[in-house]
Amino acid sequence: MTIEGTARRYMAGAHALIDLDAYAHNIRALRAAAPAGSAFMAVVKADAYGHGAIQCALAAESVANWLGVARIQEALAIRNRGVRLPILVLGPANAEEVESALVRDITLTVGAVEHVEQAAQAARKVGVRATVHLKIDTGMRRYGVMPRDAAEIAELIARQESLHLEGVFTHFSSADESDAAPTERQIAEFDAAIKRIRGRGIEPRLTHCANSAAILAKLTGTTNLVRSGIATFGISPSAEVLVPPSFQQIMSFRTVATRVFDLEPGDGVSYGLSYRAQERERVAATAAGYADGLPRQLSNTGWFALGDACYPIRGRVCMDQTVIASDERMAIGDIIDIIRPAGSRAMTLDDVARIAGTNSYEIATRITARVPRLYVRAGKVVACEHTLLGESVVAGQP
Ligand SMILES: *Cc1c(COP(=O)(O)O)cnc(C)c1O
Repeated sequence: MTIEGTARRYMAGAHALIDLDAYAHNIRALRAAAPAGSAFMAVVKADAYGHGAIQCALAAESVANWLGVARIQEALAIRNRGVRLPILVLGPANAEEVESALVRDITLTVGAVEHVEQAAQAARKVGVRATVHLKIDTGMRRYGVMPRDAAEIAELIARQESLHLEGVFTHFSSADESDAAPTERQIAEFDAAIKRIRGRGIEPRLTHCANSAAILAKLTGTTNLVRSGIATFGISPSAEVLVPPSFQQIMSFRTVATRVFDLEPGDGVSYGLSYRAQERERVAATAAGYADGLPRQLSNTGWFALGDACYPIRGRVCMDQTVIASDERMAIGDIIDIIRPAGSRAMTLDDVARIAGTNSYEIATRITARVPRLYVRAGKVVACEHTLLGESVVAGQP
């Protein structure tokens, strides 16, 4: 399937292109930055940060050892599509879903003492030995057991015949900031807790704490698995912790010009007429809006691109359409870049995040379900996921 041919099927509207070669490249580069021999967990929660969890999980199978998600439902969606990698649910489990997770061989996190009995009971009921990881709260104050309780709860887990304590982990609050002190304090708390767990004769096979920022900043502690989401997509964790230049943002976001026309002097554009033409001016209407995930803060501030030319947004971003500046190079039906990797003239996810006053994690995850995702390898579309239409097409498969 060619990129343009496939994209045309979804005109008029917006679509995302996801470069799976770049995704694999970024993962290999992260593995090279992590301590030698570390296992690698590709975090694909929140629909792989908006990139599409199914195709990212399938692509990760050849380059990662683990997948990480936030919720059991996310794990089930991936497992149901035939992905065989171990999947860890990083967040708290919903009791109602634990049994269905265990029969699908999904690894659960225990982050509270009540969850020990909950997992043990569910495992006995469905007749499996459940693999769990113990989460320690070393400073994030979100989910997990306190370090002083960790050894006792690890022992409680180890005593349950229906449970297998495979891993112990924690999560950093501040690894994406230039001050390493909070992360170092968390590593020290984690190391001390692991030591107390080992002191009770319990030897978890996996210990992990690093996220993308910690891998890039080399703050991984003495662990043997790293977890990464944002950097696998080629996006920097923050302005203070950047991905190296060899990383490539894997997502591009595009739309189409649906009308190209001239404003007369004094004409206002879009809701509230917040932009006014000073002179005769060519503009174009495009088929992407905030219901596709484009922040409304881009109104009169962001820009789109066509080839080497940039076109500022004119007036307010609407729900389904946005008006941009135009010129004689643009015609109805042209595919217009909204977001592209660095090096092009379009905005990057970081540019959009900066203008919207948030981080790129939020911008990527907010690209909505009505935007079809086209997956590209070696310049060809190899798969397409269209959540709204319930379509999932893999090239070469009927
Ligand atoms: C989301 C998440 C990650 C991945 O974080 P990135 O900053 O995207 O690398 C790792 N660990 C846990 C527990 C998470 O919730």
